[in-house]
Amino acid sequence: MPLHLEPLDMSVELEGYKSVLIVSCPICPPVSLATDGGSPLMEFFRSGIKTGAYEDYVREVRKSLEERGVKTGVFTSYLPCTAMCLWTKGQRNRLWKRAKDYEAALVMGCESARYTVEETLKNTDCRVLLGMRLVGITNATLKFEFPLTAKLEDLARVKANEVIQDDSHQRPMI
Ligand code: SF4
Repeated sequence: MPLHLEPLDMSVELEGYKSVLIVSCPICPPVSLATDGGSPLMEFFRSGIKTGAYEDYVREVRKSLEERGVKTGVFTSYLPCTAMCLWTKGQRNRLWKRAKDYEAALVMGCESARYTVEETLKNTDCRVLLGMRLVGITNATLKFEFPLTAKLEDLARVKANEVIQDDSHQRPMI
């Protein structure tokens, strides 16, 4: 079910900012990077419950910003809800506290993740930028291997351009 998201080169958009907080959704972005590179979703003894390929990507983004003198930080939240589109008020408050000291928040996630961050930070001076774009929906078979490794096999990309019918039962779009 995860959305397949492609990282964007945001170096031009981030020019001029002195501090950037990377706000990361822990669901779709790690799955996207792992499936793009054909690497495991989880190798417990290498990166715990995190996805190595995604952690490497975030590290690279931070390094390239820090080489330009930009202060960086990373914010994510797993509990009580992992999906950023459903974060609780408590999780959003923690983001607000962390992000108010940054000039920009770079969202790793989908448009709904961006919405979460924009709504949370709307009364701050922190500018919100989206660092990924939607290219499809992932379908794969989850496979576990010894020792504590999770992989995604039989990978398929499902198109995300479903036409929404005009239906009086549907709730209005925001
Ligand atoms: S916020 Fe977007 S990227 Fe994160 S879990 Fe929800 S749909 Fe996936």
